[in-house]
Amino acid sequence: MTVTAVLVRGAQVFAPEPLGLVDVLSVGERIVAIGSELELPSWADGVELDGRGALLMPGLIDQHVHIAGGGGEGGPQNRTPEIRLTDLTTAGITTVVGVLGTDGTTRSVAELLAKARALEYEGITAWIYTGAYDVPTRTVTGSARRDIVLLDRVLGVGEVALSDQRGSHPSPQALAELATEARVGGLLSGKAGVLHLHLGSGRRHLQALIELVDQHDIPIDTFVPTHLNRARGLLADAVQYGKRGGWLDITSGIVPDAEDREAVDPAEALIDLSRQGIAWEHLSMSSDAQGSAPKFDAQGALTGMGIGRADSLWQAVRRLVTDHALTWSEALRPVTTTPARILKLANVGRVAVGWQADFLLVRDREIESVIARGQWMVGQGKPKRFGTFENGKSP
Ligand code: ZN
Repeated sequence: MTVTAVLVRGAQVFAPEPLGLVDVLSVGERIVAIGSELELPSWADGVELDGRGALLMPGLIDQHVHIAGGGGEGGPQNRTPEIRLTDLTTAGITTVVGVLGTDGTTRSVAELLAKARALEYEGITAWIYTGAYDVPTRTVTGSARRDIVLLDRVLGVGEVALSDQRGSHPSPQALAELATEARVGGLLSGKAGVLHLHLGSGRRHLQALIELVDQHDIPIDTFVPTHLNRARGLLADAVQYGKRGGWLDITSGIVPDAEDREAVDPAEALIDLSRQGIAWEHLSMSSDAQGSAPKFDAQGALTGMGIGRADSLWQAVRRLVTDHALTWSEALRPVTTTPARILKLANVGRVAVGWQADFLLVRDREIESVIARGQWMVGQGKPKRFGTFENGKSP
């Protein structure tokens, strides 16, 4: 079996902190050296990339993707398809967490787990949450805690819906019990054990969660509320919640348009939260890729349907730099080091010796090359490796 090595020479490295113009060398799945005048080992199957004039940064972590498809509101013709490996890699995403969503009836956590394992075979890092919108939630083994402890790819519970007509309107007690299942499952397995919460457009916004953390002894880092840029009112609640020290996740796939005037641009939402005193290290962003984006009118009737895209994540990161004058180091944190901390992932989200070889080469703010687990997945912006059934080929 050959060992792959990748050497990038002379790129401007953001780890995400700036490291200047240096070479980065990976061998197998690890970064083994960062420095000057590095050489490819003669015994490895080596790839050398010219990084001059380019930026090198960690592969992105996306903690909310409907990897096995989602949706189904309005009928089975609206069930969204599974994500393809190259949808993620060309978007710079090298670590993904899969979620189920509204439909825990025709879709299952087992199916989600199989898809995560498929993505791992295809070359990236993939995890899942057990559960769906409703409480009691959907699981593989009959217990969320048992799923986290016994199933290798399960990091926590999610996405459980709050303030949404499609959720099950869980009581504070039911929510506290589920959060504890996630927490204790995490403690027993050495995983994050988070409760990843979908916030809908309901009137109570984040109030149920704020009351929960105020009235129970559940550590606040158990909860990861997302879609907080869905509406201004929700974002205002997010400030209240964030001041208690909780994580806040913004969705890059939620953007204001003609059909959705309530939404807040994701880059703008992050800046807004930070200006209102929320620590930048508590803010993360995920794409909601492959999720359906049903549009409802004021009476809750379905009026249209869209689908989330993985590349919205990079576009929002880029806007943090171009429209809001952030440095690359700052702009990268919500999609690299911060989700790694939230999910307690020890070796991704950073360009450092000994860490997983997941990195991007970016030229003129476009993703040029993507290395995932030491393999060259994307070159000149085009896929070099495909998923099993992609590109018209059979295995
Ligand atoms: Zn959601």
